[in-house]
Amino acid sequence: MFHQIEGLAVDANITFGDLKGTLDHAMKEFFGSSVKTSFRPSFFPFTEPSAEMFVSCFICGGSGKRGAEPCRPCKQTGWIEILGCGMVDPNVFEFVKDNGYDPKRVSGFAFGMGADRIALLKYGVDDLQLFFNGDVRFLGQFA
Ligand SMILES: [Zn+2]
Repeated sequence: MFHQIEGLAVDANITFGDLKGTLDHAMKEFFGSSVKTSFRPSFFPFTEPSAEMFVSCFICGGSGKRGAEPCRPCKQTGWIEILGCGMVDPNVFEFVKDNGYDPKRVSGFAFGMGADRIALLKYGVDDLQLFFNGDVRFLGQFA
């Protein structure tokens, strides 16, 4: 089981720049204004082009180390993969073009990120199962 947060923006003239700006802003709001973001080409079935988005490691500050120890959350790279995204493939709009989404007139971007994984990273939780055990002593700290 996992939970996913998905986003979809569709309008005239939506660009990859809109995708990058929106997600960069969201990650800075969530992890702090000092995080940097990076996009690397990837493949997802319904977006073209597609990318994986990384944020600079907010745990080690991008150094890859926690004191003398290696930073495990970023695997010592200084970057954490945070979500998948991309521009909606025009072929997807073909299926709904009779409802006003002519692929020649609209474009869009989409993204998906694991809510559980982001919570683990943001709050430094070691075990995902803690979120689902129903222990109010644990859950209460997030209220
Ligand atoms: Zn790190």
